[in-house]
Amino acid sequence: MPTCPKCGQDYYHLKAFCLEENRYELSLGADDKLEGKTIPTLEWSSYDRVPVESSCVKIEVECPNCEAVIYSNKGDSEDPELLKLLGVNPTFGG
Ligand SMILES: [Zn+2]
Repeated sequence: MPTCPKCGQDYYHLKAFCLEENRYELSLGADDKLEGKTIPTLEWSSYDRVPVESSCVKIEVECPNCEAVIYSNKGDSEDPELLKLLGVNPTFGG
């Protein structure tokens, strides 16, 4: 069973955080008024607020016990290192 390098606890799973792009619909909102002046505002619509597919730019893996970041990469969800962290040694065809 894999062991956390920070706290020494065994773990069955990890916490993984993916930093993804989110898409919004951006438009002009209702004008604000301040001291007689009209101030334009932005409207960030949550209607379209979903992560853009395959836009993960960073993955951080934490120990579920002590929450130390024990690994990170640049968004590769197929990173063989992730298998190693879960106790599997990936093989590459010889
Ligand atoms: Zn730990």
